Parts: sequence; structure tokens; C-alpha cells
Amino acid sequence: MAFWPSVVVATPAHSGVGASLTYRSELLLRPGTLVRVPLGAREVLGVVWDCATTPPEGLTEAKTKAVAGVLEGLPPLNDRWRQLVRFAAQYYQRSLGEVALAALPPQLRDLSNVQLARRLKRRAQASADGPGPAGDVAAGHDLSDEQRQALDALADAKAPVLLFGATGSGKTEVYLQATQRALFSQAEAQVLVMVPEINLTPQLEARFRERFEPLCGAGAVVCLHSGMTPAQRLSSWLAAHTGQARIVLGTRMAVLASLPGLRLIVVDEEHDPSYKSQEGARYSARDLAVYRGKVESEALEANARCQVVLGSATPSLESWHAADQGRYLRLAMPARIGGGALPRLRLVDMNHQPKGAVLAPPLIAAMAERIGRGEQCLVLLNRRGYAPVLACHDCGWKSACPHCSAYRVFHKLDRTLRCHHCGFTERVPRACPDCGNLDVAPVGRGTEQVEEQLAGLLADVKRPDGGPARVARMDADSTRLKGSLEVQLATMHSGEVDVLVGTQMIAKGHDFRRITLVASINADSGLFASDYRAPERLFALLMQAAGRAGRDAAQSATSEMWVQTWYPQHPLFASLKQHDFPAFATTQLTERLSAGMPPYGHQALLRADARTQQAAQAYLNAAAQAAVGLPHFEDVTLYPAVPLTIQRVANVERAQLLVEAASRGALQRFLTAWQPVLLQTRSLPEARGLVRFAVDVDPLVI
Ligand code: ADP
Ligand code: ZN
Ligand code: ZN
Repeated sequence: MAFWPSVVVATPAHSGVGASLTYRSELLLRPGTLVRVPLGAREVLGVVWDCATTPPEGLTEAKTKAVAGVLEGLPPLNDRWRQLVRFAAQYYQRSLGEVALAALPPQLRDLSNVQLARRLKRRAQASADGPGPAGDVAAGHDLSDEQRQALDALADAKAPVLLFGATGSGKTEVYLQATQRALFSQAEAQVLVMVPEINLTPQLEARFRERFEPLCGAGAVVCLHSGMTPAQRLSSWLAAHTGQARIVLGTRMAVLASLPGLRLIVVDEEHDPSYKSQEGARYSARDLAVYRGKVESEALEANARCQVVLGSATPSLESWHAADQGRYLRLAMPARIGGGALPRLRLVDMNHQPKGAVLAPPLIAAMAERIGRGEQCLVLLNRRGYAPVLACHDCGWKSACPHCSAYRVFHKLDRTLRCHHCGFTERVPRACPDCGNLDVAPVGRGTEQVEEQLAGLLADVKRPDGGPARVARMDADSTRLKGSLEVQLATMHSGEVDVLVGTQMIAKGHDFRRITLVASINADSGLFASDYRAPERLFALLMQAAGRAGRDAAQSATSEMWVQTWYPQHPLFASLKQHDFPAFATTQLTERLSAGMPPYGHQALLRADARTQQAAQAYLNAAAQAAVGLPHFEDVTLYPAVPLTIQRVANVERAQLLVEAASRGALQRFLTAWQPVLLQTRSLPEARGLVRFAVDVDPLVI
């Protein structure tokens, strides 16, 4: 007897291949079984989605290829996982196979059954070595009243929880104790903890390991993120899928991991933009986490739940609004552990500073004083490199990237011009390439330059031990080498460094104990950006940054957040001064409401990459034309195609078209109807030169 499994394989939505392909099999294969199937000349990994006992219309044994093999020893992916994948594919307008296969570790594709069996055996041994769940309570902190109340409320919550906790309020301890409770609620329980960027916060991983490995065994905590080697990813995934791992710590990709016993999902710093994928299926891991919690809960007995906790000191306006509406349960922890105050905001009016000053003299003086007392400072700016542009003052030449509509950044340390968009790198020219003038000079400033200037300005300042003040820099450049981030964090923690200059990377999550002054030196770009989310991001960044100061309660009273600005009267600073996120959120939401912007309106972007800007826009406009009359066309607004802010990257021209709707459902149904039209439009003459298109649902940047 033959069976007819339909199998999803990795085919992108715009390849035109349907949701799944039908194969033939001697065995009845359960949905979720991992198989190898022939596709063209290759053999590929696939997931059985369904298995029929009769051939689908028009198919015969002769016309159908046989499944090449089953991945043995792996339990099938469960129904909830497949429901999550189905939802993600549908909502983000991608193919089932693309989402399903992207959620599996790449190395799974290349393993023979023998190799797989070996991996599984090794894992089973590793987990048998450690102690089993001991059941006794691990040593945690004695909870503060706020932490206790939050944990109690969490236990009874019937909705996703928004944990609105100030920086330093002890959210991590709440995650740890909630995790512990979930793990011991049931023998197979698993917990997923997501963080924006795992490498930035090795402390978090250390805390989870320290707390749970003694309780649940050495293999109980695994990580899952894109910085791991393929072998590590496979190992973590197998541990999660087979239930050996009890806790998965990961970045956004972890939301799609197979976790058969999932009982709790934590999304730390839930407002962070890195939860939204910017390529492939452009999903929001935070939103999928909420959906996943619901699906998992529905499959559990009546009073059991898979809880979702979204934590932040500056929640996304989407989540804040959901809590306003009662869809999420808001739990507030406004006080810092130890009762310390949040740092005082000091605005430096740059209109009253010496002309051309990058760092205001009062700020330098304040930093010098702190260093003299053995305290540390953070200086934040959003540009790495030495200067964003190198220019010739004679002929006007600028360090434009030949492949992008952007300037190459001057990196003084290795004397290169580097494009931060396409990576194109050249040695700095000795003279102006256009006119030969020897006087080419940097314009504007980046972290390298500020580090250099600060070292000069603080040269005579002494630490309490009599040594000279030490300035260091931390950004994507300084942490590129493996292990260098850990080393830099360690020098900061040990107090070797007095001033740390860096990009937003230094503002996130770190628990530096001796910082008492944080300065943001070029925040203004966020005040007037055309992107309507810019103020939200700026506010979050400044609050996060401020949260690095005064974490030691003994020093919090004197801790300060300095912001250099040309616009000290800007209302954003008034809320920031009060540390009043709710007031800020209310103002922003009122503006969004009147403009019909998210979370009140719903958006999607159709993006096109093409060889010329004209082709990119022509495709988009043709797609809009062809949308007339589709279901729910009347309910959506299609805007004209426009170039992206940086319209050319790596010689590809980029354009986009905004789609807006008052209702999420209408937008969804319209997009689904539009998808085949987008494919057809591809073959029209207007679309000649189109390289690719993609739909971005709930885009973060427009
Ligand atoms: P958040 O994530 O909210 O910014 P953390 O979880 O990092 O805050 O906690 C801040 C600091 O307070 C950490 O050093 C943590 O170990 C400590 N801490 C947390 N809860 C308690 C508690 N109940 N008692 C004492 N210290 C605590
Ligand atoms: Zn010149
Ligand atoms: Zn470039």
C-alpha cells in the first residue's frame, strides 16, 4: 500500500511553488515527521504536513516521486509548532516551507541517519550525567515587595503580561523565579527566554546557568542564536526538540524553535527593534511569542497555561496600547532594587557652548570630577568610525561609496574608508582623488574621534590611585573579534576603564556597578527624523542609557544622565526628566491616533530591489494598478512608490510602497489576495530589471 504525504520544503513565496509537494511513501508518516525528498536534481530536507491514504486528483504512482528517507530517531514536530509556522507564514506573507525550514538548524539538512544517531546519543549521555530536577528551591534573592507582587500576579494572569519595570528594578530575578516555577509545575516543562542580542549580555546567560544547572543538570540551559556555529545550533535545537534542554536562551530566531514542553516565554527588552526580522520572513518574534503562548495554552488542561512575559522599562507603544485595552496585563515595578533613585537629567544647551565644541566643557568637568572619585562614565553616540565623511575643501569631493547612495566612513585606526552599507573598503587616499589636494579632512564625528578627543581632554585627570584616566571604546568595530566583547566588558566591570565611549551597544542591559554619569552627545537626530517611530526609539535609548547609571544604590543619589542638545525645550525631554514613560507614551499614542498610525492603523510595505530606481518604482506602481478590484481593495490605501532613504545599496536600487488599513483583518485579506498578483506583475514588461520584491507586514521603519 502507498501513502501520499504532502511535504513542505524550502521554497520562497515568490518561487511560485505551492504550499507543499506531494510524494509517495510506503509508510504512513505522521504530520511533523522530518524527511528527505527529491526536488529536481537535489535531495532536500522537508517536513511532512499531512499524509493521505489516497492519491490527490490527477496524481498516480508513476507521476509521483518517493520520499527518499525519514530522519530517524527524531520525534515529529508537534501540532502547535506547525500551527505557529502556519500562522507566521500566512501573516507575514511567506511560503510555509520557507518559514518551516528556516526554523530548523541548517546542519540538519546534511546529516546522514548514522551521523544523526550519533549526535542524539551524545546528547542523551550528556544529559544523563547531570542531576535530575531536584525540586528544591534554588537560592535566589529575597524578593522585593514589587517583585513578589509581580510574581504573584503573574501566577494568576490569564493574558500576556507586560512587566513594566524600571531599569534596575530586578526584572531578571522575576524571570528567574517565574522560570523556576514553570519548570517545576510539570516534569517536562520548558522555558524560552528571548533577549535582543545574547552576546551583549553574557551576564544573563551566566545567571540562568548558575541558577538552573545545579537543579536540572548540566545540559539544561542551551542558547540559540545566529552567532553560533552550525554544529552548536544543531546541538541546541536537538536538545530543545527532544526535551533534554529545559531552558532555551535565544534571540528572535529562538521563537520558532521546537519546544514540546513549553510553559513560559519571556521576551526581555520587548521594545527592542531587533525582535523584528529584516530579511526573509520579516516576522516580529515578540508578536509570534504572544501567539505561541496562546496556541500552547489552548492545548493544555483547563487551568494550565503557557505564560508570556514581555519585559521592558520602555515598552513598545504597541504593547503599551494592548495593556491599556486590557489585552495584556500590565505589572509595574517602578522602584529600583535598594531604593536608589534614577539618575537626574542634565540637559546641555549646545546653543550656549563654545562654537564647534563636540563635548561641552561642563560635561568634561563633571566627568573629570567623577573619575577623581573612582566612578565611571559612559559616553554614547550613534556613529562608529572616526568621521562619517571625508571631504576635500578645495573641490568638494566627498568619500561617497561607488556602490551605494551613502558616504563611506573614515576609520582612522586602520586608515580605511568603509561603507557601512555594502562593506566596500579602501585605503584612505593620500590626496583628493579628484583634484590632488593634499588637504582632505574628516567631517562630523564618530566613536573613534570622540575616544581620541576625550583621551586628550582628560589627559591630566587622575584616578584615586594616582594613575591617569583611561578611556576605552566599545562598538561593532572594537568587538568584532571573538572574545573581545567579553574582555572589554570585564575591563569595565573591574574598573580598569574610567570612561567608555560607544554606540547604543553600551546602553543595553549591562549591570555595571560603578557608573554614575552617562552622556548622550548627539541625540538630536532622533528628535526630527522623518520616521514616526524615531522619538519612541530615542526615548527608549536614553532611558536605557540612563539606566546604566547609579545601579549601586549607594551612588544613585548623585548619578546623572547628561544630554547635549540644540533643542532643550523639546517636550520629549520634559517626560525624560521625570522618568515618566507613561506620560511620554500617552502623548505619542495621542499623536498616532490622530494620524491613524500603528497601533491604531495597520501597515505593510511592498519593497522592490531593481537594477534601476525607475524599474523598482515601475514594478511597485504596476502592482498597485493590478490591485484594483481585489478583495478588500476598498479598505486599504496604497501610496505611490518612493525610493528608500538610502536608495542604492551595493548597486541595487531600492523602492517601496506603503499599504495602510484601519483593520488588521482587512489588510491581511488584501495582502493574501495580492500575493499571486505580485508574482504575475513580475513578468510584465514594466518589471524588467526587477531583482526581487518582498512584503513587510507591520514594518518598523518606513
Ligand atoms: P533590570 O533587569 O530590571 O534592570 P536586574 O534584574 O539586572 O534589573 O537587577 C538589578 C540588580 O539588582 C542586579 O544586580 C540583581 O542581582 C539585583 N537584584 C535583583 N533582585 C534583587 C533582590 N530582590 N534583592 C537584592 N538584589 C536584587
Ligand atoms: Zn579635491
Ligand atoms: Zn557601499
